[in-house]
Amino acid sequence: MNEFLEPSIFEYVDSHSESESKILKELYRETHLNILNTRMLCSRYQGRVLSLISKILQPKKVLEIGTYTGYSAICFAEGLSKNGLIHTIDINEELIAIQNKFFEKSGFRKNIKQHTGNALKIIPTLKDKFDLVYLDADKENYIKYFNLIIDKIIPGGLLLSDNVLWSGKVVEKTNDDFITNELIEFNKMLKNDSRVNTVILPIRDGLTISRKN
Ligand code: SAH
Ligand code: CA
Repeated sequence: MNEFLEPSIFEYVDSHSESESKILKELYRETHLNILNTRMLCSRYQGRVLSLISKILQPKKVLEIGTYTGYSAICFAEGLSKNGLIHTIDINEELIAIQNKFFEKSGFRKNIKQHTGNALKIIPTLKDKFDLVYLDADKENYIKYFNLIIDKIIPGGLLLSDNVLWSGKVVEKTNDDFITNELIEFNKMLKNDSRVNTVILPIRDGLTISRKN
C-alpha cells in the first residue's frame, strides 16, 4: 500500500522493484498474525528502499529508533559493511521474542544490538558515532531526537525520518493535533538547518533523507 500514488501506478512501481527475502516475507506474515498495530510495520516496497540506501552507503554503525518486529533493522543489515553494527531501540519489551527469532533466522544476529526502553533516555548513553540513523518512533518528540542525534552522525552520514507527511495531515489548514504540529515544525526545521541537506521522498507516509555536511 502507498498513501500518495494512484494504486495502479504503485502496483507497477512495486512489481518492478526488487522482491524482499524469504525471511522478511515470513516476518511480515508473522507480524500480521501475532502482533498488534501492524500499520507500523514497514511496507515491502519501503523496505527495499531502506535496504538499497543501506547498500549504497555501506554503513559501519546504524542507529534505529523504533524496532517494532525488526523488519526495517533487517533491511538495513542487508547493506551493512562487514562487522558493522546496528543499535536498535524499542520501548516495548513484548516485541523482543519475535525480534530475536528473526534476527537469528536472518543471519544478522551478531550485527544487531537491541536496547529496550525509552529512546530519549537510551540515546545519550550510546558512545558510537553513526553513519545512518533511522527515526521511526515517538513522533511527538522528533525534534528532540534530531537534537540528540545530530552530533552523533558523521559527516556524509544520513538521517532517515519516517512518517513525516502523517497521512497528509501536515498540509491540512486547521489541526489541533499535537503530533501533526510537531511534524510540521520538524519538517521546517530540517529544511532550514544548515548542518544537513534535506529532501522529502513521498514514499508511503513520507520518508525524509537528510545528509549531514
Ligand atoms: N521501524 C519499524 C517500525 C517501528 S514502529 C519498521 O519499520 O518495521 C514504532 C515503534 O516505536 C513501536 O514498536 C513502539 O513500541 C516504539 N516506540 C514508541 N515510543 C518509543 C520510545 N519513546 N522509545 C523507544 N521506542 C518507542
Ligand atoms: Ca514508520
